[in-house]
Order: sequence, then C-alpha cells, then structure tokens
Amino acid sequence: MTTVLVVNSGSSSLKYQLLDDAEQVLASGLVERIGGEGTITHRGPGGEVSVAAPVPDHAGALALMAATFAEHGPVLAPDVVGHRVVHGGERFSAPVLVDAEVEAAVEELSVLAPLHNPPGLLGIRAARAAFPGVPQVAVFDTAFHATMPPEATTYAIDAELAAERGIRRYGFHGTSHEYVSQAAAAFLGGAGRFVVLHLGNGASACAVSDGRSIATSMGLTPLEGLVMGTRGGDLDPGAVLHLLRTGSTVEEVDTLLNRRSGLTGLTGSGDLRDVLAAAGAGDERAERALGVYAHRVRGYVGAYLAHLGGLDALVFTAGVGENSPEVRARVCAGLGHLGIELDPARNEARGRGVRRISPDDTPVAVLVVPTDEELQIARHALRTVAAAR
Ligand code: AMP
Repeated sequence: MTTVLVVNSGSSSLKYQLLDDAEQVLASGLVERIGGEGTITHRGPGGEVSVAAPVPDHAGALALMAATFAEHGPVLAPDVVGHRVVHGGERFSAPVLVDAEVEAAVEELSVLAPLHNPPGLLGIRAARAAFPGVPQVAVFDTAFHATMPPEATTYAIDAELAAERGIRRYGFHGTSHEYVSQAAAAFLGGAGRFVVLHLGNGASACAVSDGRSIATSMGLTPLEGLVMGTRGGDLDPGAVLHLLRTGSTVEEVDTLLNRRSGLTGLTGSGDLRDVLAAAGAGDERAERALGVYAHRVRGYVGAYLAHLGGLDALVFTAGVGENSPEVRARVCAGLGHLGIELDPARNEARGRGVRRISPDDTPVAVLVVPTDEELQIARHALRTVAAAR
C-alpha cells in the first residue's frame, strides 16, 4: 500500500492527513500554537486524541505528530509527502518535486506572499529532515490559474514596472477550485462553463471553462475580490494612498487590510454564523454586511457569466458555501433571468456529498460541492512522483 502524508503549514499551525492510494483517510490532525505551549489533535484508528506539549517550531510540530502516530497509530511511513504552498509565482504552473532549487524559489516568492510562503517553507524543510529520502511534492495554490489568459491577469499599470516587480493577477485557492470543478464535472457527467464560489474564511470566485481557470477574483495577493472573514476584497487603491497620506503607517494599513476588514471590519466578527445570527436579531450593521457580501459575489457571478459566454453550473463550496443556505439564497436571489434558480427545500436540506440545489430542469445547475484540498494535494503528490519515475 502506498501512503501520502499531506502537510498544510500555517504560521502557528500545521494540518496533516495521511491517505492511501485508494484515497482513504487513515489519519488526520492539527498541531496548534506552534512557537509555545502547543496542542495536537489527532484522529486515527482509535478515534480522536488531544495532547498538550511544547512545540518550539515547525520541526517540533512534525516531531510531535510523529510521536502521536507512534503512540496512537496508524503506522507513519509515507511514500510521498505533499505540501500546500500558497504562492508559486510565474515559475510554478504545476506541482513539483522539491529539491534545494525549488526551496530557494519558494523562498524568493515569499516577497509576494509574506504571510503564507514562509510557513509553507518551514513545513517543507521540517518534513525533508523528518523523512529523509522520501519524495516531497509542493502543490501551489496559484498553479490552477496558470491557464488564465493575459487579459485576465494583466493589471493596467506601467507594463515595464509590473513586469519588473511581478505585479499581475496570480489567483489563489487553486487546489480547491480544481478539485471542486472536477467533482462538479463528474457529478454532471461533463465539464462545461462553471463559476465556482469558494466562500470560507478566505473567499474567491473562479470562472472555469472546460476544466481550465479563465478568471479568478484574488489577484497578486489573496486580498483582492470577495468580502472575506477579515479581508475586504476589492477596494479603490486610492483608499490606501489616502490612508497613508493621512497618518497611517504601512504596517497599520497592512493590518487593516489583512485582519480588520471584511466581515470583521463591518461587524466585529469574521464568522458568518455570528453575522447571520446578529442580522436575524435585527442588527443593522450585520444586515448591511450580508448585503455587501452577497452584492460582491453576485457582481462576480455576472462578470464571469459574461467571460464564459454562458453558464452551465454555479458551484458553492467551503465553510460558508457548503453550510449556509441563507447566503446561497441571498447570492441567487433574483437571478432567474440568468437561468439561476434554487429549489428552496433542496437548498435548506443538509447533505454530505455533491448535491444539486436547483430544480432538475433549470438551465444552470446550482451545486454544493464539499471541497477537499488535502485529497487533491495527495492526488497531485502521487501523480508527480509517478511521472518522475
Ligand atoms: P473555511 O475557511 O472553509 O473553513 O470556512 C470557515 C468559515 O465558514 C467560518 O468562519 C464560518 O464563517 C463559516 N461557516 C461554517 N459553518 C457555517 C454555517 N453553518 N453557516 C454559515 N457559515 C458557516
């Protein structure tokens, strides 16, 4: 049996999953509070266990993970390790086997993703040390969007400066958009013109034409596009200049845009469940925030419908997209003239797998597709290693 360990490193957390080549999850878990008194939550054959232990760094997180596997099972002897890396820049348009040169390139790309690439790199380095000789594959969030045409990736600024500094749209959540659009195509019996709405703590829309990304809402960084938990998405760049000219520092603006905007900025909570509850209780700020959120999503749906030349499926995924009938209803309200309609009972019904929430006979299939980035990373890791043999 071949097994794949999938590692998703954040700045203070590390998620992992062990899968076999039949795509069964053998174990999964999360190490939190890296850099101090940490905890690990591990789900293995004996159920879930939670253990507290000091976790000084990412190497310590992998050591704690290995010790937890040794004590609670299953056997941890991966044939390949797959890593989520956020930014692949222009260099990486597909997953790659990690070597010293790839590590250096990921490090160089940290300038474009200062919050995201450094922890990814720490995870890679720790895993290479922990599993010597085991192939490591980097799977990039940006890679699926490498098929976007230049008109979708080019910002209309000084072309030479943009080229010199790498300023263009790259797009993110690619692993999720790819997995979800493939699952939707399998469910519908064929690819076509899809808009995928990844609505989670981070959120992005993607226009997928016959399996290829042709437009997406995140840009140079994951700040652009939809309203998110703590990021506001689209904003006049003039607002940033205005803030800088009227007393804010670069650091303050960075914090504002990454941590104090979006639903958090509008309502005080970045969790859509809180916002829905507050709006239900008559809170006007929360109601306004939901309005802004849905308005933005609908704008992208309309734009992408135009780019795609029509629409076969509108697909909801991630925490909000999979779990909130109310947000789905707000997004789809009044779009019947575009062929987008919900079946209210299907929309409200809970379900686990891929499901259709539009009536059977509408022109656009509206689907809920649970995303599974770990599985997609495992698939890529196995394929990349097989192709290199
Ligand atoms: P993700 O980043 O995909 O894990 O999504 C996390 C977000 O999904 C949370 O911050 C919540 O706002 C949202 N979420 C999870 N469950 C629900 C739900 N039942 N209704 C609305 N939003 C939800």
